[in-house]
Amino acid sequence: MRKLELHWQILIGMVAGLVVGLVLNLAGPGLSAAIGTEGPLHAVAMFVVHLNDFVGDLFLRLLRFIAVPIVLFSLVVGASSLNDLQKLSRIGGRTIAIYLVTTALAITTGLVLADLVQPGHWVSAELRDTLAATGVAAAADKIDKAVAPDVWATLLDIVPANPFASLASGNMLQVVFAALAIGVALTLVPRDKAEPVIRVADGLTETIIKLVHLVMLTAPIAVFALIVRVIATLGLDVLGALLVYTTTVVAGLAVMMGVVYPGLLRLFTGMGLRRFYGAIAPAQLLAFSSSSSSATLPVTMECVDERLGCGEDVTSFVIPLGATINMDGTALYQGVAAMFIAQIYGLDLGVTAQLTIVLTATLASIGTAGVPGVGLIMLVIVLQSVGMPEDVMKGGIAIIFSVDRLLDMCRTTCNVTGDCMVAAVVAHAEGDLLTEAQVATRLAKADAAGLDENP
Ligand code: ASP
Repeated sequence: MRKLELHWQILIGMVAGLVVGLVLNLAGPGLSAAIGTEGPLHAVAMFVVHLNDFVGDLFLRLLRFIAVPIVLFSLVVGASSLNDLQKLSRIGGRTIAIYLVTTALAITTGLVLADLVQPGHWVSAELRDTLAATGVAAAADKIDKAVAPDVWATLLDIVPANPFASLASGNMLQVVFAALAIGVALTLVPRDKAEPVIRVADGLTETIIKLVHLVMLTAPIAVFALIVRVIATLGLDVLGALLVYTTTVVAGLAVMMGVVYPGLLRLFTGMGLRRFYGAIAPAQLLAFSSSSSSATLPVTMECVDERLGCGEDVTSFVIPLGATINMDGTALYQGVAAMFIAQIYGLDLGVTAQLTIVLTATLASIGTAGVPGVGLIMLVIVLQSVGMPEDVMKGGIAIIFSVDRLLDMCRTTCNVTGDCMVAAVVAHAEGDLLTEAQVATRLAKADAAGLDENP
């Protein structure tokens, strides 16, 4: 019997996590009373909770462990194999242009939806004040962390003063820059000097890819642990109260993933929905469970290169860059959230303010690492840019904070999907995109050679 494919296993882990998390959530008060605050039952319960946290966090840590080396080595190899600089600048130019356009498109979708649905009008003034009062501390913390981006400083910061420090701190844009610079320089030094370096980088890339496969074998259990934790602690009553707002965000993300991306893919590559989503499903499931496009990065690269057939050159450039600068889901969410907050406090955000939101949210996403909850911090910058009064901003952030984790899971999935779509478009434009049959043959060959665990 053929083993169930890994993405189905992950899906099963996720659904099981949802069910168990929901049961724990609903049984919460009764369960806590039965367990008590001391005694053997309490000790066992605490052990299970800690074990669950440990499994989830260990998995995320392993993925982070892989992220920097895989980007560094594969990009050095990728850049050094592009024997004309023109190709590199073409890929770079296309990638950045499409990223900016799709991000702007996403915020616009969010703004239009929020204008149509008016989610803020479904929250009464009493409910607003009650919800705002419960999240003040969290809101103050987010506001403190938000620092408005300075475009020049952000651009300057792409170039590391010390590449080793960038590697150590995992600053992805700087790692991309350093790897590109080394890769390009390798094409300019004598072949006998460059060859051994490239071979080492190539061997290390293979090795890290093997690590990704191994780590991914534990994904079903880890995803279960991550999802249980989130769902068990979710405030279901607040979720119910903010249902129109959350549904608006989720509907917008569905428009991006179900209409905009498939449309662009069909238009520019002729690729169908089934092939695209079949290939990137593991990355999407992981993005959803971890709420982090940075942690998902190694798996996204694997899916895009091996399962979608975009080729290493394009993958190693487009995907790491996307995990940092392309956050369509986050941008869309910020559009809806800004309008929602304005609506519940009776403020009017006109066309100029909405255009400012498009601009600020696009800029804010550049240079911000894809980690859980960062979208909410960036939202503070967006709200500040339209001159929202401090107390309104605090109240608004406090209200939406309670449902942020759930929306974070959904928007991270969209962020990762957007990166994969752009990789396919750029690879196709470069003539590097394999056909479905070629991908299948390559995977079958690797399978037969026992080289691939098929993430
Ligand atoms: N968690 C998201 C990501 O990693 C960013 C966000 O908070 O919206 O892509």
